[in-house]
Amino acid sequence: MTQTQTARLMDGAGLAARIVEECTSRAAALTERTGQAPCLATVLVGEDPASVTYVRMKRSRSAKAGIESRHVELPATTTTKELVGAITELSEDPAVHGILLQHPVGEHIDERAAFEAIAPEKDVDGVTMHSFAAMSFGLPGFQSCTPGGIMRLLDAYDVELTGKHAVVVGRSAILGKPAGMLLLDRNATVTYCHSRTRDLSSIVRQADVLVAAVGRARFIHGDDIKPGAVVIDAGYNAGNVGDVDFDSAKTRASLITPVPGGVGPMTIAVLLAQTVDAAERQLGVAER
Ligand code: NAP
Repeated sequence: MTQTQTARLMDGAGLAARIVEECTSRAAALTERTGQAPCLATVLVGEDPASVTYVRMKRSRSAKAGIESRHVELPATTTTKELVGAITELSEDPAVHGILLQHPVGEHIDERAAFEAIAPEKDVDGVTMHSFAAMSFGLPGFQSCTPGGIMRLLDAYDVELTGKHAVVVGRSAILGKPAGMLLLDRNATVTYCHSRTRDLSSIVRQADVLVAAVGRARFIHGDDIKPGAVVIDAGYNAGNVGDVDFDSAKTRASLITPVPGGVGPMTIAVLLAQTVDAAERQLGVAER
């Protein structure tokens, strides 16, 4: 590709809408067959405005897809023991099929302990060690929603991964690390970069597939993108901008996700799809 060419956009919003449509019909069929709608429990600790908005949005999208939600709101002063207790109750409740604990939960809480109280069969947000192991071992299980969304986008655009060099910038437990594991499982050669990586640009320049999951606006510039690379921008920063400098990157990439409208809508679509999967399995009507 030359500098004057423009990458094709990966339409996450369109793909997510199709996934949600399929979820909606599966949820309706399940409700008709069993008399029980899929049910997602959302747990929110404290009143962080961004978290309140995220949870509200997830519940409203669920409702539109025919997925019921059970909302548990706990005060910011909640202890680890109380939170683990509340999640354990949901894990044991047969009327709840999926559990989402909104991150972050407050620094005084052991968030890992709280995540691990989610029963593996209800971990529709893919945050437990069980789900991470399943992603790492290439076994059936729930995927972390953003990495799961990234893989579905790559598949929708027929991106061949075998033998390709995938570079993941970021190694968080919910995004960078599992994204790399899923790419590895598809036979990509994976390099992780993080805040201690030396000469990041030279590594990014080798990427056939680049996943940016840093949380810094326009952190990766087009000059560092290999011509023809597939660029997945998972970042979402203030002002609706991603981790990749879109205008310069689109002159080098062959495919690129926009922000917004790329990875973002896929995350919630995967959450809904995995909630319906969980409900189908728990109600004994799963075909897959
Ligand atoms: P995070 O937990 O803060 O992790 C950021 C990662 O980036 C860390 O691994 C960190 O390295 C690395 N990093 C930070 N500064 C760096 C630098 N200068 N050079 C190289 N690496 C650097 O963030 P996250 O939760 O993974 O989220 C990342 C981005 O994705 C954010 O913009 C977030 O809003 C977005 N996001 C979007 C969705 C969605 O639905 N679209 C979902 C989740 C997150 P260390 O490990 O060394 O600290």
